[in-house]
Amino acid sequence: MPYDNDNIFAKILRGELPAFTVYENDQCLAFLDVMPQSDGHTLVLPKQPVQNLFDLDDEAAKYLITAVRKVAGAVQDAFSPDGIRLMQLNGEAAGQTVMHLHMHIIPCYAHSTPLSHAQHMAETEILEEHAAKIRAAIH
Ligand code: 5GP
Repeated sequence: MPYDNDNIFAKILRGELPAFTVYENDQCLAFLDVMPQSDGHTLVLPKQPVQNLFDLDDEAAKYLITAVRKVAGAVQDAFSPDGIRLMQLNGEAAGQTVMHLHMHIIPCYAHSTPLSHAQHMAETEILEEHAAKIRAAIH
């Protein structure tokens, strides 16, 4: 299936839809998942129009993992979770619902289980507050 230029994340990357952005550089953009599985659930995307991991070239893959490490560190500092789960889904059969490659950063807390994938819309005020916390922890 070819890359769909009208997928939600392509529109966010073009600035046509809003996002709770926490980090951006020339290669990558990171913003909060609007249906977080836990507080601080963040998505990191390459800016290249690629659908999945296999379409990404090696150079862009390095930029992506570097951005993931940076943002995950900020999520750790901002929310102090007991662990962080990275998740990346390739294809509908794997559960991928937005067809632009992205890595999930999902904070995990010892005494609670992350919510289901893409099920519970968070309140705007909470997402704004959480994005600000992560932005403040990026260095
Ligand atoms: P996937 O299933 O493709 O790995 O993950 C897509 C993620 O995007 C889901 O966790 C879902 O909650 C999130 N999502 C869906 N629509 C939007 C949106 O409009 N904005 C943001 N920030 N996240 C979205």
